[in-house]
Amino acid sequence: MSKILVIAEHLNGQLNSATARAVSAAAAVKPEAIDVLVLADSPDSVAAEAAKIDGVAKVLTVARAENAHALAAVLAPQIAKAAEGYSHVFAPSTTFGKDLMPRVAALMGVAQVSDVMSVEDAHTFTRPIYAGNAIVTVKAKADDTVVATIRTASWKAAGGGNSAPVEALELDAAIPTHTRFVGLKQAKSDRPDLQSSPKVISGGRGVGSKENFDIIYKLADKIGAAVGASRAAVDAGYCPNDMQVGQTGKIIAPELYMAFGISGAIQHLTGIKDAGTIVAINKDAEAPIFEIADIGLVGDLFKIIPELEAALA
Ligand SMILES: Cc1cc2nc3c(=O)[nH]c(=O)nc-3n(C[C@H](O)[C@H](O)[C@H](O)COP(=O)(O)OP(=O)(O)OC[C@H]3O[C@@H](n4cnc5c(N)ncnc54)[C@H](O)[C@@H]3O)c2cc1C
Repeated sequence: MSKILVIAEHLNGQLNSATARAVSAAAAVKPEAIDVLVLADSPDSVAAEAAKIDGVAKVLTVARAENAHALAAVLAPQIAKAAEGYSHVFAPSTTFGKDLMPRVAALMGVAQVSDVMSVEDAHTFTRPIYAGNAIVTVKAKADDTVVATIRTASWKAAGGGNSAPVEALELDAAIPTHTRFVGLKQAKSDRPDLQSSPKVISGGRGVGSKENFDIIYKLADKIGAAVGASRAAVDAGYCPNDMQVGQTGKIIAPELYMAFGISGAIQHLTGIKDAGTIVAINKDAEAPIFEIADIGLVGDLFKIIPELEAALA
């Protein structure tokens, strides 16, 4: 019977909702138990949030000063130790999970299963390859602990009506000293989070400049949307790279995605595959984004955005 350990992702004492999505993937394995592991310097508030996630049997906490910052080199040996007795270890396929889980897998001597989209059985999973253009079924060795990252856009967050017990865990794990925390530089924004917002408005190279990008921000603020961008817009310096959507950016699944001046390269589309309604605005009627858009407007974004704003006023 399976027993799954889900690694909690958190920042500034708050649990990231990606954790509840990883719990949904764990539930699809139909395990005997799902436990959540919180590694932090003071894990109480995060543990209290994790305890509310439906399907969680218990929350385990490891309180150490070294865990104040999410350093993969520091967390991985503790996770490998805590994973003893578990059949699976899951973490979200976010920057946090992608950084952390290969180290966990290596320390445990197993191959990692990446970007799990669906669970076929306890050791068989589907995942995207070729920028999401093909889906492959992968089978992990039945004797090995399954170490996997969960493609968050493919899973709904588990509900929040639980009150699982919280237990402190003492781990005898040697923590390496070769990696230390120096600082965190984080873009600050009052706008909704790109990865969890139900509405996202993105701009591409067609927006033309950093100054012109203000038109995208203004429209987004008007409808309470997060702002994304294509890689071409990021590379051209129109906006910071934490706004990039796509294969090498963020994979998102908003209910509404509006793309302005984005051509629809496969590397961009892989980031919005799971979006609900896709609206594309492009002056080129042949742009590939129209092939996947639910609603397409052929025209100049600098004319269409003021018209949209007027309609919203
Ligand atoms: C390994 C790899 C990984 C990559 N990862 C990513 C990724 O994560 N995310 C990503 O986005 N890309 C990624 N790319 C790049 C991708 O291939 C494209 O180059 C990029 O997505 C193009 O961005 P764009 O659509 O903004 O620009 P373009 O392809 O140049 O398209 C601009 C569009 O704007 C339209 N336009 C211009 N002016 C206007 C106007 N006034 N009004 C309306 N429309 C207008 C044009 O008709 C055109 O269709 C990756 C590429 C590689 C090789």
